[in-house]
Amino acid sequence: MRAMVFEGLGRPLRLKDVPVPRPGPGQILLEVAACGICRTDLHIFDGDLENPKLPLIPGHEIVGRVVELGAGVSRYEIGDRVGVPWLGYTCETCRYCRSGRENLCENARFTGYTIDGGYAEYALADVRYAFPIPEGYSDAGAAPLLCAGLIGYRAYRMAGDAEKIGMYGFGAAAHIIAQVAVHQGKKVYAFTRPGDREKQTFALSLGAAWAGDSTALPPERLDAAIIFAPVGELVPAALRAIDKGGIVVCAGIHMSDIPAFPYDILWEERRIASIANLTRRDGEGFMAIAREFPIETHVTEFPLERANAAVGQLRAGRITGAAVLIP
Ligand SMILES: [Zn+2]
Ligand SMILES: [Zn+2]
Repeated sequence: MRAMVFEGLGRPLRLKDVPVPRPGPGQILLEVAACGICRTDLHIFDGDLENPKLPLIPGHEIVGRVVELGAGVSRYEIGDRVGVPWLGYTCETCRYCRSGRENLCENARFTGYTIDGGYAEYALADVRYAFPIPEGYSDAGAAPLLCAGLIGYRAYRMAGDAEKIGMYGFGAAAHIIAQVAVHQGKKVYAFTRPGDREKQTFALSLGAAWAGDSTALPPERLDAAIIFAPVGELVPAALRAIDKGGIVVCAGIHMSDIPAFPYDILWEERRIASIANLTRRDGEGFMAIAREFPIETHVTEFPLERANAAVGQLRAGRITGAAVLIP
């Protein structure tokens, strides 16, 4: 099969011919129809996330159809369309798994990081971490649901019953979660790179109540803020934007250093939290919402072999919505 392979720091992805993997017990083999490019992939390429499998087939927003079942798999049939997220394996025996926090599993494996992912024509998945894709979504349109949507949803859940929610960085995740928040009757405030009128207009078109620069204060105090951009400076900025008792949720896997800030912007029971990975419950909960109303995903499609160009455009902030590879 054709795959775009990551061979180490500072090297572009290489188009290679590699053997089609065979499903082991509890696994399924998918013919990949689409695979989203996530910012986390960039963190792997840049060495911000250490010790990836090498060589590695990246990609953890996989939409594909089941073409082969491993031993013991009864949950899916040949031809089913499923999505595969970042969390690709958990042990079910460590103290985190046993206490309903499998997202923190001590022995977790991650799709497109410590196991091969979806920048390829075929990919393996652990049947426990493959979710049926709701009808009504195209293959490419469904890809960003698998991480931007799913991990974004975990961050959104951590914001609790907040009515006024700020979102810092209006990329793939925010453009999905903003629609979920608006659908659930919340007010969304979108913060972009200063002067990025295009993304601000995009946010307003998806129902945001306000959109502005990340350096600005919103017109009213927020109950919660989710930081999707990997920029540490946004933590004090978001603390200044939230009201007493509010929460700032850092949704990314990597962030630049958070600058020192005065205690008074944290005081009055404001909180800072991070989210890591996802649980099956997040996947099922989010897919139920995606079934409830049509989330409009904005995607830019690239053929598989153009992955390097797609990565470059994402890095430069030139993708509105999400970038998706089509094998
Ligand atoms: Zn991701
Ligand atoms: Zn575990």
